[in-house]
Amino acid sequence: MGEFELIERYFAKLGAARRDVLLGVGDDAALLAMPQGHELVACVDTIVDGRHFPSGTRADDVGWRALAVNLSDLAAMGATPAWATLALTMPAADEDWLEGFAAGFAALAGVHKVALVGGDTTRGPLAVTVQLLGHVAAGTALRRSGAGAGDLVYVTGWPGDAAAGLALLEGRLGGQGANRSALEGKFRRPEPRVAFGERLRGVASACIDVSDGLAADLGRLAAASGVGATLRARELPLSRALYALAGEQRARELALAGGDDYELLFTVPAAARQALAALSAGPGSPACHCIGEITAGRGVRLLDERGELRVPPGWDHFAT
Ligand code: ADP
Ligand code: MG
Repeated sequence: MGEFELIERYFAKLGAARRDVLLGVGDDAALLAMPQGHELVACVDTIVDGRHFPSGTRADDVGWRALAVNLSDLAAMGATPAWATLALTMPAADEDWLEGFAAGFAALAGVHKVALVGGDTTRGPLAVTVQLLGHVAAGTALRRSGAGAGDLVYVTGWPGDAAAGLALLEGRLGGQGANRSALEGKFRRPEPRVAFGERLRGVASACIDVSDGLAADLGRLAAASGVGATLRARELPLSRALYALAGEQRARELALAGGDDYELLFTVPAAARQALAALSAGPGSPACHCIGEITAGRGVRLLDERGELRVPPGWDHFAT
């Protein structure tokens, strides 16, 4: 199978069909119609075999993940995803692998109505880059930089679950049964909070998605906002499955520093607390927990009833 045939077979019609795609796969570049009064929102993320997912990960999970990590970035901006390009580097044109990859990508693209509009295909060690484009009404995007002292800090979902799932897959954590499959599922198929991110516009003062560890990503949000933050260790939401398999101490560490959550971490002015409660009670909204507050000053402090705890560091690919 040549490169042209491969693109035609697996990628020419992948994802949602959208009327705003004036020209998709097949020409030198795609032509996309932007809705009036909106700003273009763009992000890109690469996932590398053996670094962002274990070698031997199922192809459909790789396809899902490559899009999910980008959807999570647009979710954190409050943006609506629309178009993706895919730069795929793989060691060989394995039909079973390509079939699975395309199916996993298509499953998530279908949920969020994302069209694949172009890409690049090359041979080399397995690495997948997806660029995701979306839009947001002008001036309304969420940013990392809007938090003010006194704002409340919230996180969606159950941080630490995905990191525990990866630890299970890699044999660093033991456990069986429903808890194990629930946690592994959270790593294998992250569900980016796109709809909730859109609903947070006008309510959240700042937002980031949690990919490198909750504490580290809160540090980034705080730094971008020129403020500090306090986390209350006892308020961290820990799922039953995580608690059961990891125990309280390790569960808390995974929740703070594990990474791969793809949850939203955001701040809300105290006056908007009711508005948030209404939002998170809405149909399809994820669980949402208040885990701390924004302070004057700098840095992230972690507190429990006995005092201040050490904040575990997050992921850094180039840490020395
Ligand atoms: P060019 O040499 O002009 O860059 P390519 O031969 O790389 O074009 O690609 C041909 C067409 O197929 C282009 O429209 C490109 O966007 C698309 N394409 C190539 N690889 C992929 C892929 N993995 N997924 C989606 N579209 C792809
Ligand atoms: Mg090309």
